[in-house]
Amino acid sequence: MRFATFFPHLTGFRLDAIHRSDEQLTLTATPVRKAAACPLCHRRSRRVHSRYQRRVADLPLGGTPLTLVLHVRKFFCRNPRCPRRIFAERLPSLVAAGARRSRPLHTALERVAFTLGGEAGARLAIALGMPTTPDILLRLIRAAPLPAIGTPERVGVDDFALRKGRVYAGLVVDHDQRRPLDVLPDCTPATIADWLAAHPSICLVSRDRGTAIVDGVTRGAPQAVQVADRWHLLKNLGEALERLLVRQRTEWHDALLAEMPEKPANETMTPALWESDTSTKPRAPTARALQAAQERQARRERRVARYEEARRLSAVGWSLRAIAREMHLNRHTVHDYLTSDSAPILRPRTRRPSKLDPYRAYIQRRWEEGCHDAAVLLAELRQRGYTGGHSILRAHVAPWRRALPQSTLPSRRDHLIGCDAV
Ligand SMILES: [Zn+2]
Repeated sequence: MRFATFFPHLTGFRLDAIHRSDEQLTLTATPVRKAAACPLCHRRSRRVHSRYQRRVADLPLGGTPLTLVLHVRKFFCRNPRCPRRIFAERLPSLVAAGARRSRPLHTALERVAFTLGGEAGARLAIALGMPTTPDILLRLIRAAPLPAIGTPERVGVDDFALRKGRVYAGLVVDHDQRRPLDVLPDCTPATIADWLAAHPSICLVSRDRGTAIVDGVTRGAPQAVQVADRWHLLKNLGEALERLLVRQRTEWHDALLAEMPEKPANETMTPALWESDTSTKPRAPTARALQAAQERQARRERRVARYEEARRLSAVGWSLRAIAREMHLNRHTVHDYLTSDSAPILRPRTRRPSKLDPYRAYIQRRWEEGCHDAAVLLAELRQRGYTGGHSILRAHVAPWRRALPQSTLPSRRDHLIGCDAV
């Protein structure tokens, strides 16, 4: 059976020797053709100048790393007009000029790198008999040629932050192939327009409503239909709805309360209802709540001052970028200031998830059953897998505890979190 049957990439070589050690397999081979072409003038030559050995790592054999030792030659170039006097023979089907990995091994490592990245890829490659390092795999990714852009027809253009609030680059995505096409160094109208003008096949561009992108698309692809993409439509709609609800928070809160049925006098109020039931049971604000309200008001005043300053600078001719730089603001914030009729209302802070979340219903049920001893509650929660501390639980039951009649409050015990002893 021929040597090339098992090693098709070594077609044109003669196998001289096989050497096996514990850690690797070495094949020694020699090219059988008589002549080689000069890489500069392409004239073939048979005049051998000298021979040397070239070591090339190849795909593993049965999980064992394989090294090829190739006896290759240098030739005299016979073309008197060629500046190259002596050249080394090329082995284009086996290994690139100057490379130390065979083409099949290079391809295999490149695929591993693109699939798994550096660290995980190197672990897998080594386990499969292809010694490498994470850095080598990352270099293979960077050196790989980019796929051709072709003639895209429907593309999306958007910016993304290299350094949030400071440096933005542009991204062009092919909607038909569902893959990124190109990265632009920035997202200025000129850059976008140049890129689009170089690809006249484009007939549709989806984009957000940023003026820079709109200008760039209008100038670079006047033939294209411009549409707002679905993500930005939903985002804009969500934000508009949120602003509306926040603006009318007082009104809909009052309306909800007006809709609530009258509570019978003897009905026991659940803790959850009690927490929201501010209309029927007003409570004097605590000092902490007062301080929080004052801080909120101060923040609101600072925001209004920033809003008015940004609009004043804009009115005297400052650009959006210049205002953002001068006031140390994100340019999206400045854009919001300049396009809204009043100082933006901040959305209420969303509550961060707590380790207590999965157990809220259980705690409420046990509390209503009369278990007001948080130490007992804590022990029960721990049995159910709760890994949080006692302070979260204490804060959670504190308003319920304040709602209890004074006579039922427990005598103080060190380990109690503020509940009746059971
Ligand atoms: Zn030559």
